[in-house]
Amino acid sequence: MNEVWRIGDVKISRVVELEVTGGSRFILPDATRDQCLPLTWMHPHFMDEAGNLIMSVHALVVDTGDTRIVVDTCIGNDKERSIPAWSNLQTSFLQDLKTTGYDPDSIDIVLCTHLHVDHVGWNTRLVDGEWVPTFPNAKYLVATDEWGYWTSEPESGRFDEVYADSVKPIEPLMSLVDVESEPEIVPGISLKPTPGTPGHVSVEIQSNGERAIITGDCIHHPCQMTRVDWCSSADSDAGQGLKTRERLLADLSDTDTLVIGTHFATPTAGYIRPHVDGNYWLDTNVKAASA
Ligand SMILES: [Zn+2]
Repeated sequence: MNEVWRIGDVKISRVVELEVTGGSRFILPDATRDQCLPLTWMHPHFMDEAGNLIMSVHALVVDTGDTRIVVDTCIGNDKERSIPAWSNLQTSFLQDLKTTGYDPDSIDIVLCTHLHVDHVGWNTRLVDGEWVPTFPNAKYLVATDEWGYWTSEPESGRFDEVYADSVKPIEPLMSLVDVESEPEIVPGISLKPTPGTPGHVSVEIQSNGERAIITGDCIHHPCQMTRVDWCSSADSDAGQGLKTRERLLADLSDTDTLVIGTHFATPTAGYIRPHVDGNYWLDTNVKAASA
């Protein structure tokens, strides 16, 4: 079942593409079963009894009442990818999005927190052999720094993999956002630089005194709240990613800000609290925010 949260007048819905146990070591090489098992607070939501991590790929629809924003577009169907488990997917994502109440035609904004393979997939879909925008009436937002990085780095092979089928077809609908000078994309919804890839952004939602943040990939898995030092192989600058994580977790600790993870398995959201052994953990008791 897809979760829904309410932050003031804003409704946030999760539409799941994949939720998988194990197989995440390629993203978090330090997170071996032996190293994870002592982090008992992660069981059962984020780790199974053997110490395997559970991760999710999902989109989050932020609905202000006036504007509908899809944050991150997962892996997508029919796409050939180098990661076998992500190649040629045939999921019911688009139907699930509609069932959640969001016809693709009704989406106003698509925001990719960054341009990795699992965040741009449903930018497009295959129709009669052609890749067309899944959200034809939307503006696709990308941070200027992220765009600059991927289009100027010849070594960025991952971009080559996604460009033709997931980025090029939406370029006519794309707008670049200078996050430093214009962080607010619509009233109450702002982008916050959280680099690990150079232009990576998180999304802050504020309404009626309530606040949430969609973290994107600056925290891939809740294990990095206690093991802040565990860096992701997906970060182009792991040292920068670590600094981002340290600062963000310190800012969020012991606050009422609901943290909604971009790869956190069900129940996906919680509050950052200090951990008795140091650093933090995610308290997923979110009754007040659930709708
Ligand atoms: Zn990701």
